[in-house]
Amino acid sequence: MAFTLVAPRLIEVGGGSIARIAAVLQTFGLSRPLVVTDPFMVSSGLVRCCLDPLRAARMRPVVFSDTIPEPTDTVVEAGLRVLRQGEYDCLIGFGGGSPIDTAKAMAILALGQEKMRAYKVPFVADHAALPVIAVPTTAGTGSEATRFTVITDAEGGEKMLIAGLGALPLAAIVDYELTFSVPPRTTADTGVDALSHALEAFVSRRANPFSDALALQAMERIGPYLRTVYREPRNAAAREAMMLGASLAGLAFSNASVALVHGMSRPIGAHFHVPHGLSNAMLLPAVTRFGLAAAPARYAEAARRIGFAAPTDDDAVASARLAEGLVALNQELGVPTPRAWGIDAAAWEEKLELMAAQALASGSPANNPRVPDPAEIIA
Ligand code: NAD
Repeated sequence: MAFTLVAPRLIEVGGGSIARIAAVLQTFGLSRPLVVTDPFMVSSGLVRCCLDPLRAARMRPVVFSDTIPEPTDTVVEAGLRVLRQGEYDCLIGFGGGSPIDTAKAMAILALGQEKMRAYKVPFVADHAALPVIAVPTTAGTGSEATRFTVITDAEGGEKMLIAGLGALPLAAIVDYELTFSVPPRTTADTGVDALSHALEAFVSRRANPFSDALALQAMERIGPYLRTVYREPRNAAAREAMMLGASLAGLAFSNASVALVHGMSRPIGAHFHVPHGLSNAMLLPAVTRFGLAAAPARYAEAARRIGFAAPTDDDAVASARLAEGLVALNQELGVPTPRAWGIDAAAWEEKLELMAAQALASGSPANNPRVPDPAEIIA
């Protein structure tokens, strides 16, 4: 068995750890950050949790807040123009996965080529990039710990996966107290995103003993707390468990891979603007059922760790409980079907073949325990 492991050089974890952001920069000799965030972080004042400690350390952070959910190459290029107007030595991605991914993409382009498309998988974006310090404010994507960024091509409408060391943050700050204000819908969607990272990493054909340990720890935290955090947004124990689970899951899939759920989810996000976690949730039960027979022991162990099956259940019982448990979870979290979410049936039909082709081209479905053909993806 041979594999490669990657992780940020430093991860600060814990409630209130955002207060150490200036010290993290100083550890690496950095002092001139451009903070990449979204308009809500500015209007809600949350970004001050990041700016105040930097200013207290006599740094003068500048804010670029024009990121959008599911970021596009157009937004990345706008950020790049701001970056080039100043003498910045690092980027701080502060927000959900969208601002963090935007910061990563800007960091890659800053020291590389002009166009995001040039870095799309199967290209490996391993070249030097500007340092990124990632601070998540959602418990979901794990982007703070991954070697990926996901950027939509505004013209072609394709959600491009960019992978490589250039997209790996130098450091991350994982502070669950930043997530108390996340509304229930986003809490549920991002939580299912984290759960699907852990599950897909664990059943991936590229799983290894390190990613397994991380994925199992992630499932043990997310499983018991996902419903709680949806119902009780101020529950600190639940917020903390979800944040740890999301980062663990990020490290897990960054060192294994995601699989069919993510491969199919990206085109749905690109063509119909369904938030990433929600399109994962829509797919998770059916895609899991599709793969069960190809890796029953793995799916069964996942079911036990998440809490859908008892430790004493045998593999057949436990893996069946996994599929049932995911359906029930979606019901409890109010996950709609694509149709109920408002996607037009004719537009959906028209895009199916293209979406199936794009899913397969991303490479993620090839990591699934059962690898689908285009007709199976469409079905
Ligand atoms: P997001 O960053 O798009 O944020 C969703 C919404 O939540 C936004 O309106 C935002 O303002 C709001 N929000 C964020 N933090 C909040 C807080 N603390 N309080 C209140 N509101 C808050 O959502 P996301 O799910 O975190 O990120 C999705 C993006 O991440 C997608 O583009 C997806 O493709 C990408 N992604 C990347 C990776 C990776 O490894 N790079 C992995 C999975 C997903």
